[in-house]
Amino acid sequence: MTSPIPTTEWIWNDGVFVPWDEARVHVMTHALHYGSSIFEGIRFYETPEGPAVMRLTDHVKRFYTSCRIYKMAPAHTPESLIEASFELIRRNGLSEGYLRPLAFRGVGALGLNPAPSPVQTLLICWPWGQYLGAEALERGVDAGVSSWFRPAPNTHPSLAKAGGNYINSQLIKMEALANGFDEAIALGVGGTVSEGSGQNIFLVVEGELLTPALDGTMLAGITRDCVMRLARDMGIPVRECIIPREMLHQAEEVFFAGTASEVTPVRSVDRVPVGEGVAGPITRRIQRAYLDTARGVAPDRYGWLERVPRAEPVAV
Ligand code: PMP
Repeated sequence: MTSPIPTTEWIWNDGVFVPWDEARVHVMTHALHYGSSIFEGIRFYETPEGPAVMRLTDHVKRFYTSCRIYKMAPAHTPESLIEASFELIRRNGLSEGYLRPLAFRGVGALGLNPAPSPVQTLLICWPWGQYLGAEALERGVDAGVSSWFRPAPNTHPSLAKAGGNYINSQLIKMEALANGFDEAIALGVGGTVSEGSGQNIFLVVEGELLTPALDGTMLAGITRDCVMRLARDMGIPVRECIIPREMLHQAEEVFFAGTASEVTPVRSVDRVPVGEGVAGPITRRIQRAYLDTARGVAPDRYGWLERVPRAEPVAV
């Protein structure tokens, strides 16, 4: 089977390591029909001390929270998923890449009550370069405000990273690409700024770093949390607040933050340049601090890096 995704050798399938091509599902899988899946997106980086996973424990915690919201109970403890993640990365021989925990409702019944469909849990990893293109981190991206809104609170729980939510993200992303943008900025129900299709957003307005407050329309990104902590420690004032759409044109700087996107400058919004149309100084400082920490070249002051332990020597 050929795949545009760079494949690796092994996938962890409910406690068993299976070859990549053998991790298959039946067409009657509940999640395929109704989006009943939960996932995480985690990056691991090559560091001078070997591969390290960025905030693995926090991602696994969010994974279990998302599962709880949808009453899904993976048949594994968070600790065993963490162990299995390390083992998977080791077995696949990757020093850097992306790790995808996935839980979904399998084959049981096709009614809308998901309870009869058992939960399956998988871990997959593969190499993944720059999400928004090779030069996005340097050059920045062109973003457009989407005509599709994020789900309203009390519709899809946005704090849960559920597969079904991403059908909305796909509409948002496809529209942006069709309009010649690299990425979209989606609004929440009230018409104020929410987030990108798969990343949170920050603005610098009069030297202050602003990000939309968690209002039930966006994911509480772990990179968002990293950015806020790094900025505060640099003495940059940070505020979570309501952000009117038009503030995107008032801002001196705009950037996206997410595991896949890392810290990506936005150089224009709806074809209007942001600031000088290049990555601004605060964006640059935060991007550098984030990537240097992730790559283990700056001190890990927050304990974000979880090193992949070396394999135990085999007893002879
Ligand atoms: N919002 C959405 C919709 C996302 O899919 C992501 C990526 N997981 C984010 C924000 C950023 O979250 P994180 O920093 O935890 O990757």
